[in-house]
Amino acid sequence: MDDIFSLIKPKIASIINEDSYKTWIEPIQFADYRDGKCFIVVPNTFFRDWIIENFEQILTTLIKDVTKSDTKIEYILKKEEKAEEKKGVVVKKPLKYNIFNPRYTFENFVVGASNQFANAACLAVATNPGKTYNPLFIYGGVGLGKTHLLNAIGNFLIKHNNTSADRICYITAEVFTNELINSLRYEKMEDFRNRFRKMDILLIDDIQFIAGKERTQAEFFHTFNALYDNMKQIVVTSDKFPRDIENFEERLRSRFEWGLIADIQSLDLETKVAILNKKAEYENVELPLDVAFFIASNVDDNVRSLEGSLTRIVAFSSLKGTTITIDLAREVMGHLIKEKKKEITIDLIIEEVSSYFSIKISDIKSNKRVRSILTPRQVAMYLSRKLTDSSLVGIGEKFGGKDHATILHSIKKIEDEQKIKKDLKRAVENIESRIKST
Ligand code: ADP
Ligand code: MG
Repeated sequence: MDDIFSLIKPKIASIINEDSYKTWIEPIQFADYRDGKCFIVVPNTFFRDWIIENFEQILTTLIKDVTKSDTKIEYILKKEEKAEEKKGVVVKKPLKYNIFNPRYTFENFVVGASNQFANAACLAVATNPGKTYNPLFIYGGVGLGKTHLLNAIGNFLIKHNNTSADRICYITAEVFTNELINSLRYEKMEDFRNRFRKMDILLIDDIQFIAGKERTQAEFFHTFNALYDNMKQIVVTSDKFPRDIENFEERLRSRFEWGLIADIQSLDLETKVAILNKKAEYENVELPLDVAFFIASNVDDNVRSLEGSLTRIVAFSSLKGTTITIDLAREVMGHLIKEKKKEITIDLIIEEVSSYFSIKISDIKSNKRVRSILTPRQVAMYLSRKLTDSSLVGIGEKFGGKDHATILHSIKKIEDEQKIKKDLKRAVENIESRIKST
């Protein structure tokens, strides 16, 4: 008999959502079809009951479409899994939840206008868990410190509040989901539930991850209620305001609104500079203020990119054995600054080359053949070809109407000379990186 199941799987996939499909349909194996019965293999009894309750009707209808006759589904429990479980092989060790990043503390969190509300709310919760704002919902864009604040709460509770680490649970919504799926598969739901419900504080990161995942939302809802009813503290982070998370259950949204919602906004320049200084101090690095401002104004509001840039600059300066300067920062951050830069045009190239060699733009475009002007002109032509899409003729026009043969000759000459003359090569590279970082 054909594998009827492989015929109907794509159809189910188009009907139910992707997560349900992965969790519930993909693991099903087709075994046999005879006498109007379709035999399928499922991992365990929980799984079977779930299918019966939620998917049997769709499955039966689809099978009927294929076989053109009424069909009953018969379930077979997967044997080897049962056996393995008895031997204790399958049981996955639960992850450790309560390890907080020691660097993510309130002391290390720089407070500015954009995050002071969220910071204050987290501090209040850490000082008085379950009593002030419950639940606390923190939302804000990527890299703005949500995970940092959750860890800060954990660190604070352990250090100042004598809370035992195994009564605090930090978990990302993604890990929560994976653990849930595993618990369902291996019939460990009781353990799963108990583990969360015995916590005094639940810190759950990136809740938007469970959007669209019905079963996870349902389970989280029950966990939430169990904790909330016992006045246990719940803190949730998200990249969006509850109402703006799509495919999110209304009952969960409204629960989040029971407590306090605090946002973290994009950082202003001063806060970015303060964060850089703090990080530099932490790493024992001398960071001049002008460089801090340069980095802060060229990196978007994301603290992670801010820190990444600083790390790269520090690494570069120690590799090269030079001090940290704006030029070094510009060189290192070329790829980041690029996103904000203007389009590279021949005019821009001419401008940069002229200023680098301290000659007049009108001279570059002229026909003067003195060496001090000729070389910069050829460099500018070479870079125009390399950094823009202009044709040789197009470039010629921008240089006071020169023909394409002249342009070609110049490009070739600079290409060749760079192989021999190190200082020319360096100058060209230097100009190129300036052009790219304007
Ligand atoms: P999110 O979880 O919001 O995406 P993270 O908490 O992971 O962001 O923050 C990214 C990085 O930026 C972390 O290294 C964090 O320590 C740092 N960071 C974010 N905000 C601040 C801040 N206000 N002060 C100091 N470091 C910060
Ligand atoms: Mg995070």
